[in-house]
Amino acid sequence: SNELTLSMQLVPYSQQRKLLIAHNISSHIALQRSRRTFIANASHELRTPLTVIAGYLEYVHSDDSLPEALKTPVEKAMSQAQNMEQIISDLLSLSKLENKLLKKKDIQLIDLQVHLDKIMHTIYASGQVAARQVKISVTSGLAIEACEKDLDSLCYNLINNAIKYSDEQGTIQITWQPYNGAYAMLQVSDDGIGIPPEHIGYLTERFYRVDSGRSRRVGGTGLGLSIVKHILERHNGRLEISSRVGEGSIFTAILPKNPLA
Ligand code: ADP
Repeated sequence: SNELTLSMQLVPYSQQRKLLIAHNISSHIALQRSRRTFIANASHELRTPLTVIAGYLEYVHSDDSLPEALKTPVEKAMSQAQNMEQIISDLLSLSKLENKLLKKKDIQLIDLQVHLDKIMHTIYASGQVAARQVKISVTSGLAIEACEKDLDSLCYNLINNAIKYSDEQGTIQITWQPYNGAYAMLQVSDDGIGIPPEHIGYLTERFYRVDSGRSRRVGGTGLGLSIVKHILERHNGRLEISSRVGEGSIFTAILPKNPLA
């Protein structure tokens, strides 16, 4: 296309004058766009064959005549196919988030108590919570305007991580409270493995995982926090992470009550 994108910068030149510098960033923008399209297309194209592979594995697995010795290999292949499905679906979510500015039609008023109840219902139903204590506190009547699907994914990712990176006997705290008048703050804390300080700045990058045996053992795509970051950016919010190795982590998401105001 012939689109021209300029990045403008006003810098002091002399006492009376300023200099306007225009950088032509069109090729940079075009490159970004083609990278996004490529990732979206590749993910989409990979999905179909993967569904077929998973289907055949399931078929083989359910066959009573499957020799005992082949059960474990087939189950391992099935579990990897499932991982790959999750990666593809996360990549598609990411590329959708990157392309779309938040619009009026995307948002609705969401009561945070009702919303968290819904999320917790799904999480309890999945059986991941095990023996953990979950302490929930939501300021009553607190509501924000947000894209509900995004808010689902934000809460689900943070709570799911708190579960994944903590002990079965651990305690998880989830709170929603007002913040600075125009904002609402979600805090998800765990008493789990914690994060070494040198990694904290990179956690929201795609596929970044703290290289511990634990991270590799628990399932995951390394895309969850990247999705969280994009959701918050789209809503004009932000993420703060604080953690101590061996003691636990606190993930704080701050969202404006009205992201389009
Ligand atoms: P995933 O959990 O799928 O690996 P994420 O993007 O959600 O990907 O998280 C990136 C990495 O950040 C994780 O691999 C893990 O190393 C670290 N991490 C995230 N949440 C926590 C947490 N609550 N406690 C400790 N480490 C965490």
